[in-house]
Amino acid sequence: MPTLGDWDEVCMICAICPSGGPYELVDEEDLEDVAGDIAAEVKALLFEGKGRPAAYADSPNDGLPEVLLDQKESSSIPDEELREIVTEALASSFSGADIRRGLPEELPGWLPEGLGAIGPWHMRLTRDCVAIGYFGERSGEAPIRNDGRFPDGQHVETRHVRKYSCGNFYATVRQGTKGALLEENKISVCSIYGIHNYQHHPNFWLCKECYECLYSWMDQENLSDKPFSDRELYEVVHSQFARRSDNFRGLIPGVNYGGIHATIGMHQNHFAPGRRESRSIARGIQAGRRGPDLIPHIMEDFQCWMFMRRDKWPEPTQATSTFSTFEPKNSTEDPLPLIATLPSDVFISITDYLSLQWLLILSTTCQRLRAVITDGSFLRRFVRQSVHFGEYNYVLPATPAELVIANEVAKRWLGESGVEHAGLDPFVHPEFPYPAFISACIRSDSMKNRRRIRGIIEQFKELWRKYRSAGWKVDRFYPPNELAEEFKGQTSSGGI
Ligand SMILES: [Zn+2]
Repeated sequence: MPTLGDWDEVCMICAICPSGGPYELVDEEDLEDVAGDIAAEVKALLFEGKGRPAAYADSPNDGLPEVLLDQKESSSIPDEELREIVTEALASSFSGADIRRGLPEELPGWLPEGLGAIGPWHMRLTRDCVAIGYFGERSGEAPIRNDGRFPDGQHVETRHVRKYSCGNFYATVRQGTKGALLEENKISVCSIYGIHNYQHHPNFWLCKECYECLYSWMDQENLSDKPFSDRELYEVVHSQFARRSDNFRGLIPGVNYGGIHATIGMHQNHFAPGRRESRSIARGIQAGRRGPDLIPHIMEDFQCWMFMRRDKWPEPTQATSTFSTFEPKNSTEDPLPLIATLPSDVFISITDYLSLQWLLILSTTCQRLRAVITDGSFLRRFVRQSVHFGEYNYVLPATPAELVIANEVAKRWLGESGVEHAGLDPFVHPEFPYPAFISACIRSDSMKNRRRIRGIIEQFKELWRKYRSAGWKVDRFYPPNELAEEFKGQTSSGGI
């Protein structure tokens, strides 16, 4: 966290620093510039009839249909006033006397639980991480030859690490004889700023949650009988054409991280650099919200959800526990569209090729189709398939710790549907309210981030698949027989 000469490096999968990420919307020094940009975008959206700015045309689609702003009701707000509204709202997020130095003593009240930093800066709380590479016993550094080559993955060591600073870790955790976790002061150098060869340091780290999700989601696909290992991961990471570099803080070039990399400066303290557009802010201003009431809109446009914990499954509420079906009027007079006259198994087979979004779009084409598609049993079967085998598979728990949390929430969803005894796996219960649950997941910040991380792991899986089929893209390694004995750690086969 922020002290002079200090910097953040980020997890290779989720692109979040070990302290959890930002705790402020915007750096006070950037306040005027950011407010000016937002005010200009809001003006374009509300008063000039312009749609999405060209700069965001290729931004990732969140999977939901665009909601267009109702522009005709807005009466114009003068430029200066608009700018003041935005500045005031952003400034209302500042907290603590130390804000000038960017060091709040406490996390601000608007930061929801599970989002961003896991503690105020002075407590230096960090998530547990997993370091992979060659550490030796003394200095924690990997052996690199003068020509810049480093050992292949054969003898990599996997460590459960804590006490992070600038990409390095100062404590290793191991299981004691009685099951307790013991912390040892042992350095593991993982920083992208390699000590011997600039940018050539091969050790890397991931947060523990990402490490566990990576293995779980890799295995689920059952692509090969041979299990994926840390040794392979190390070689996949280091044999790409483009190296991991300091200006990406250790991320893999070419992997799409969903725009979060923009938040990585010297420190990952502010959400503002990850902002995508000002649509929600425009809607908030149009609805008359001002000051702190605009913060939720700002958070939406700043894509703060990219830092939300990935294991907060949405709770059932009155608002989400029902899904309204549609009964067409005059159904006997309305002729059936050709597609709805198909035998039901053929119709179901065709719809299996559609995503839920496209199915719902299809349902808007006519009343009869709407009634067929929103029929309770049809929709539940469709969404159930998507959860267990398709596009919503990411909402299922991936690790033992997640299983405990997710099953508790799933039982509450079943309880809302009147089912008392959910069984061991509530997600497969025939009465599980899939449409309402997925509808809540799509709105959930935690599940949005879960989907982003799943997408990144899919990209890793593709790199791994290519590595398995074609081998190293670039050979940056020297043979294992040249490795000094002191670095030959325990070969890991994945899992710590
Ligand atoms: Zn991570």
